[in-house]
Amino acid sequence: MAILVHLPSFMAGPITAALQRTAPDIPVWNGREAAPPEAVEAIIAWGLKPGVLPTYPNLRLVCAATAGVDKLLAAPDLPEGMPVTRIVDPGQQTGIAHYVLATALRHARGLGTYAEQQRRGEWKRHPGRDLSRCRVGVLGLGEIGSAVARMFAAIGYPVAGWSRSGKGIPGVTDYTGDEGFAAMLSKSDILVCALPLTSQTNGLLNRQTLSLLPAGAFFINVGRGEHLVEADLIALIDAGHLAGAALDVFAKEPPAADDPIWNHPRIEATPHIAADPSYELVAQQCVENLRRARDGRELLNQVDRNAGY
Ligand code: NDP
Repeated sequence: MAILVHLPSFMAGPITAALQRTAPDIPVWNGREAAPPEAVEAIIAWGLKPGVLPTYPNLRLVCAATAGVDKLLAAPDLPEGMPVTRIVDPGQQTGIAHYVLATALRHARGLGTYAEQQRRGEWKRHPGRDLSRCRVGVLGLGEIGSAVARMFAAIGYPVAGWSRSGKGIPGVTDYTGDEGFAAMLSKSDILVCALPLTSQTNGLLNRQTLSLLPAGAFFINVGRGEHLVEADLIALIDAGHLAGAALDVFAKEPPAADDPIWNHPRIEATPHIAADPSYELVAQQCVENLRRARDGRELLNQVDRNAGY
């Protein structure tokens, strides 16, 4: 019985090798062509096209190769009751927090403005912002959002966070529910999205909600592109309400050649690199969960399929 790696090639090779190092006793197939369908017990994937899952009659487990599971849960033929697990990697959480901090500090310290001035040969000082005008709001206080919130709090920024349950993180003001969402946005000079993509969060950041942000606010998206209505963001930046944005995720990756973000002077775009999980850890968590599934034990990092994350 075996593991099937069904991933884009840039991840498939390293994860296959890591699985082989982690569990030399378990056969691993990289790609569907070579894998005998009845042998496949676990699939490690990012997304699954219709028709893939029904091929494997002895499947016990679907493992996401990263923290986000929206693409996997969207598989129309995911059998009811099939356990789905995801990766929880403290190193990835820290990496994403570093990315968010880097982009936020660049904005808060006006480094983009100074870079533009440098290219023009201009020596001009601007008044610094005091921290009380850099209130940070983090949407989603899970593994990633809480790492982001803690890091801002540790360097003295006023931090708030929005979650479903309220997390009680020291130094982070909790907001929950629709009212909490609006209240937090109205006090966020820097808004960070670290939400999972679900039916409730899809399109959450649009003209109406982004307008709640204070004038001059900056938006950072490390969640999913579909959280944001990109045209609405651009309209609010162009109208001068928002100062700009740093986007690591897009509804279409890469964005189309004529997508305005490529040339927008107030938007920094990166190709979904905020941080990858460790491939060794992906392999270890997948193997551990396969062993647990075989023994009927509780799985690590099992997704709540009803909640969608
Ligand atoms: P978690 O599942 O640990 O946390 C999700 C958080 O979102 C929880 O705090 C949850 O609240 C909150 N939440 C979910 N739905 C709602 C809602 N309707 N209203 C309010 N709060 C809500 O996820 P992670 O932190 O591990 O990952 C978050 C996302 O980050 C992933 O789903 C993925 O999309 C993205 N990601 C991006 C990467 C990148 O490179 N840019 C890399 C990896 C992940 P509660 O705590 O109350 O349940």
